[in-house]
Amino acid sequence: MKTIYFDNNATTEVDPEVFEAMEPFLKGLYGNPSSMHHKGGEVAAHIRLGRQRLADLLGCSPEEVIYTSCGTESDNTALWSALRTQPDRRHLVTSRVEHSAIVNNASFLRRLGYSVTEIGVDRQGRLDMEELARAVTPETALVSIHWANNETGVVFPVLEIAEMCRERGVVFHTDAVQAVGKIPMALSDTKIDMLSLAGHKLHAPKGIGALYVRRGLKFQPFMVGGHQEHGRRGGTENVPYIVGLGKAAELAAARLPEENSRVRAMRDRLEAGLLKVPYSMVNGDREHRLPNTTNISFEYIEGESILFHLSHFGICASSGSACTSGSLEPSHVLRAMGVPFTAAHGSIRLSLCTYNTEEEVDFALEKFPPIVDKLRALSPFWKDGGPADSTLLTCDSDACNLCAS
Ligand SMILES: *Cc1c(COP(=O)(O)O)cnc(C)c1O
Repeated sequence: MKTIYFDNNATTEVDPEVFEAMEPFLKGLYGNPSSMHHKGGEVAAHIRLGRQRLADLLGCSPEEVIYTSCGTESDNTALWSALRTQPDRRHLVTSRVEHSAIVNNASFLRRLGYSVTEIGVDRQGRLDMEELARAVTPETALVSIHWANNETGVVFPVLEIAEMCRERGVVFHTDAVQAVGKIPMALSDTKIDMLSLAGHKLHAPKGIGALYVRRGLKFQPFMVGGHQEHGRRGGTENVPYIVGLGKAAELAAARLPEENSRVRAMRDRLEAGLLKVPYSMVNGDREHRLPNTTNISFEYIEGESILFHLSHFGICASSGSACTSGSLEPSHVLRAMGVPFTAAHGSIRLSLCTYNTEEEVDFALEKFPPIVDKLRALSPFWKDGGPADSTLLTCDSDACNLCAS
């Protein structure tokens, strides 16, 4: 069975050119870049090239890039550094729809005694900018707002937020794990202080990430150790992966126009086709959105069941609810947006990339409607070709605040 991979926001396939670039560093080129002999020297040059390629994609200078092990480590480093360099400021501002790398960190920091403000979003997943402006105070050490949401693809006005933070003398970090390679950026022209990315979301392998730290920003390492990365991240450099990320960055820069034309058009066609299914809707602002992502709800059925049926045809996607302790619970993102529970439970995320084809879109469009029909025929919320009596519509999850309200 052929795989149709529409789950690129979860992870991406390593590009063959990336693999090829990495391979020599898993074979003969094993030197430690810190070594004084020729084995060190021959790999150090390739790290410099990788760093330059990544800096070119980001529009910054190579000294502003710190390699980490993943997007999560980059996020942790940014939060940690901002708090440690400004010990008098014990307040953090973030949003209610961040990735768990930020959300769970924020709750951890709250337990440590920091105060945390989580800014809400509207029904389209757009940040409340006035609430954000009110939340920032002289006590605020850091504002951390992601560039693009991984579930809905909604793009946040981070350049504007960065300007506001700079005016108020507050450090601004953005988790750009979903944005890098999909949105053109020139960090040197912005007021962004720190930015996180992860290699495996742009066709490099899992286990490599980076943090952009603006030149001149006070910084404290998260991983304390050797003098690597100019003393900003201890640990011997992950040479093959740094080289691979450099190649992936070069490819991403070259493919940005295609991502925003051909991929966007495929996504739009897929979405338009799926919206022909009755009682379906798009979650998230369709205007300010990543070119590759659509999050669609098929009301009155479970996203998990749709995924299960799609996988019979080799189609990979993901759903907006997570099965925790036996009860299906809509994601914190859809809950923050106030998506009604009959829709939140039936949400599916499809995320494309430049490897996808029009034939794959045709195939998915052919398979989807019968799956939805079949599941609705079995749904207690569906009767005689339409929604059942709405008084029946309650969710059995205690944690689902949509039903409680
Ligand atoms: C995937 C992702 C992360 C985590 O990256 P890892 O490399 O898996 O640690 C963080 N933030 C966002 C928005 C993501 O999509």
